Amino acid sequence: MTELRYLPDADDVVDFSATVTEVGDDGDYLILDGTYFYPEGGGQPADRGTLSWDGGSAEVVDVYKDHGEVRHDVEGVEGALPDVGDAVEGHVDEERRRAHRRMHTAQHVLSRVVLDEYGAGTAGNQIHADRSRIDFEPADFDDDDLARIERLANEAIAADYPVTKEERPRPQVEAETDEGRSLLHLIPDHVDPLRVVEIEGYDLCPCGGTHVDRLGEIGRIEITDRTSKGADTERIEFVLAEG
Ligand SMILES: [Zn+2]
Repeated sequence: MTELRYLPDADDVVDFSATVTEVGDDGDYLILDGTYFYPEGGGQPADRGTLSWDGGSAEVVDVYKDHGEVRHDVEGVEGALPDVGDAVEGHVDEERRRAHRRMHTAQHVLSRVVLDEYGAGTAGNQIHADRSRIDFEPADFDDDDLARIERLANEAIAADYPVTKEERPRPQVEAETDEGRSLLHLIPDHVDPLRVVEIEGYDLCPCGGTHVDRLGEIGRIEITDRTSKGADTERIEFVLAEG
């Protein structure tokens, strides 16, 4: 098992040391005893960055979970690959990480606004570094609704609420998560405790993604597009501007 060291609240760590536990047969991936690289999942893409060791280095081009391990796909290997048991230094691409943190927390704010104001849940989301989208249902927004959603979300960001991330026992999380705010039933029962992302006094959602520490770090949300995805599903696309 690879330890997910960015959990529960080390979202800001981009430099770390770890030990190699497996080297891909074709030298195409490395598995470590622990990692701060975020593996793709939950609508959030993987981190990128570099791994280096005594006598070599490589670019990390993809990161994903594989039966409890986290594989770091590597390319551009310089020198000989490390052996199992060797120490490596990891560096996560800070710009990409920061973009994903801002985007993912912005998604939580928008999901909260839409749940509170329109009673619509979040059916899916896809974060990218430069643009993101959320599917809401049941929903049927007009232009005025979009302007209102954007304004209310930016008001919450301007209030600069702190964001805390911690593990809590699953029964507690089930009790404190608002109906429609999370697809909790899709998280396997054995996942306990659950990592919770709480925007203090504003929103709470079980989530394993990387997030900012205060809403002010998001900047400004701009909703750029809306499309209907079926009878009662609406897709909103958004970008972020620096605050
Ligand atoms: Zn999330």
